[in-house]
Amino acid sequence: MKPPCYQCGEPAVVDGLCADCYDKEHPLIEVKTPLTLLSCRKCGAVKIPGGWKKLSVEATDSDDLWPHQVDVLLDHELKPLVSGVEITIEEEKRLDRVLSIVLKVIGKSHDTLPPHEEQHNVEVRFSYGTCDTCGMMSGGYYEATLQIRADGRKLTEEEEDDIVRIVTEMTVAEYGTNEKAFVTKISTDKYGIDFQLGSEHLCRSIADVLEYQYLAQRKQNYKLVGQDKGGKDKFRITILIRLNRFGLGDFVRVLDNPCQVMAMGKSGLTCFDLVQKQRFTINPKSSKWRTIEYLASKDERRKYMVTTRVYGQPVQLMDSETFEITELDEFLLDNDTDTGATVYGLIIDEEFFLLPRE
Ligand SMILES: [Zn+2]
Ligand SMILES: [Zn+2]
Repeated sequence: MKPPCYQCGEPAVVDGLCADCYDKEHPLIEVKTPLTLLSCRKCGAVKIPGGWKKLSVEATDSDDLWPHQVDVLLDHELKPLVSGVEITIEEEKRLDRVLSIVLKVIGKSHDTLPPHEEQHNVEVRFSYGTCDTCGMMSGGYYEATLQIRADGRKLTEEEEDDIVRIVTEMTVAEYGTNEKAFVTKISTDKYGIDFQLGSEHLCRSIADVLEYQYLAQRKQNYKLVGQDKGGKDKFRITILIRLNRFGLGDFVRVLDNPCQVMAMGKSGLTCFDLVQKQRFTINPKSSKWRTIEYLASKDERRKYMVTTRVYGQPVQLMDSETFEITELDEFLLDNDTDTGATVYGLIIDEEFFLLPRE
């Protein structure tokens, strides 16, 4: 026979208590009420011990926002007393700045007892402020300037779009962990784009990516902007990324041969040699790199129609704009390029070069 529970007289199961009395004596979680939720009026970030926690969601009105904010708050304010508890949050009542919620918790207060449900009523009081990031942003704070230029030309639209996309993606990716991950200002003029960035670290990482992706030149300098509270000199960095004169599809001369730029990136510059009819890749450290000379923009290529293709005879191509006919050794053309097909070519110093197929 089991001894009776010393609180209610029912048969005892654990530590001299019945299951109900044991559960009551051993709550699954500990949480205080009322709780104060201080959030940023602008971005919804929640103040937690040691800083502001940004929300990983973008919500437009506060009805969508509060469940995420309460989650963040409870992450810090709710202490599970046993492992493996399941918690659901239900809204009970919401006035302007006061929210009543019910926490429904399911778990086992003791290994030998079945799971049970426990309810906790919690009141959340909202208060509002400005988080560090929004404060710095609205104050125009920036640590670094990233300047994008191109050598002897304007940036192309594709380059501008691509660079703005990279800056945006990298800033967003760092946003949750770096309170200075924001762009204070973007300005474009005929020379290129300037980004003012809240974080020097972010600026350097973006510059690394752009430098590799565009095989660009990089220069950086520091400017003295004043002194901090301790009297130490404060500097602001400017990183200049200068893209090459040539871009994708443009024509360059490498070791005296005309080539078309096919790809550029971390692994180097891939060109198609229009004389040798083969691809090769070089990187900025190779000796060949220094021989690169800009020849022509990709817009200089010409479109041709194959007008005559007969075995054993030169191929005839007609310029689609001037209708001039150019003759070409038949072995230069792929076997499956027949009469009527479109091909592209480039004329350099009056010499015709067939371009690789796209
Ligand atoms: Zn009992
Ligand atoms: Zn904020």
